[in-house]
Amino acid sequence: MIKLIAPPHLMKVYLKRHCDKLLPLIRTRLDQPENLCLKDHFKTDGEILEILAAKPNDLVPLHEKIVSDLEKLHLPVKVWTALEKAFNETEFFRKERVRYNAYTLVRSLKQPTCLYCNIHQIAPVYLEKKISRPPIDHFFASDLYPGLSLSFYNLIPACTACNTIKSNKPTSTVTHTHPYLLGFGDDCMLTLSNFRNLDDLTGKKIKPFKIVFDNPTIDKRYEGNISLFALAPTYQTYRGKAHWVMRTMDQRSKAAVDSALKLVPGVTDVNYWDVFGVDYEIEAHKRSPYSKLTRDLVRQYASQEIKTLLSI
Ligand SMILES: [Zn+2]
Repeated sequence: MIKLIAPPHLMKVYLKRHCDKLLPLIRTRLDQPENLCLKDHFKTDGEILEILAAKPNDLVPLHEKIVSDLEKLHLPVKVWTALEKAFNETEFFRKERVRYNAYTLVRSLKQPTCLYCNIHQIAPVYLEKKISRPPIDHFFASDLYPGLSLSFYNLIPACTACNTIKSNKPTSTVTHTHPYLLGFGDDCMLTLSNFRNLDDLTGKKIKPFKIVFDNPTIDKRYEGNISLFALAPTYQTYRGKAHWVMRTMDQRSKAAVDSALKLVPGVTDVNYWDVFGVDYEIEAHKRSPYSKLTRDLVRQYASQEIKTLLSI
């Protein structure tokens, strides 16, 4: 789980554009006869903008308050159906709406890898007549919170695997980490169990080891995400990368590491990249798949000699 970090001034621009572009669409929908019951809450543009721009911690309480207030005046099923229609994301997710849509949002956020797993690449691809974009996950599921389907902080670009595994399972910022609020950092690390020493990884036959998460702070939010996205079995499926990182750190590879470092001695980020092909700093982990796994394994298993060479 990697925190979504973007320059604050740009996030302000993206958020404002999101609200400005979607406001007229929702206002039009609220005028539809079947959605008129929502007018008892969404009296002015301010109420529409509030739900579009609410911060991650405020989204669910806001939704619950709106539903509760409206259900005092109308039938629950009517309120629910109206919210589903007024905030429906189908049009936003289509390519045809060229001026502003999910493609624009994904392109702006510039998240090359999935923030949830840091395994799969999700950068959109732009061809002459075709555009591909990753799925956009509703952190708070649309089935449970239909009014949050177009809220800026509820739209998270993700890989297909994470989006599918998570599906419409319930989440909250108390039980899970939201990518705009918190990443695992070094508080929750990937580690190896059943691992004795690097000799286990030599030869043709790879000795079995298991990739697990170490959560010394016992923060339930980390556990929530590990379970929600099935991160342990997912990493286990791709354990070949862990094997590669461990072999690269092997003392017998020191000569190769030493040789790479001769190019730019004393420059940590460049040297680390030369050896492992990913960034070391947590803030840059979104750039490359497996950067979180690599950092965690290097911090735990690299010899002091390698750490000194890499200045980490
Ligand atoms: Zn993912």
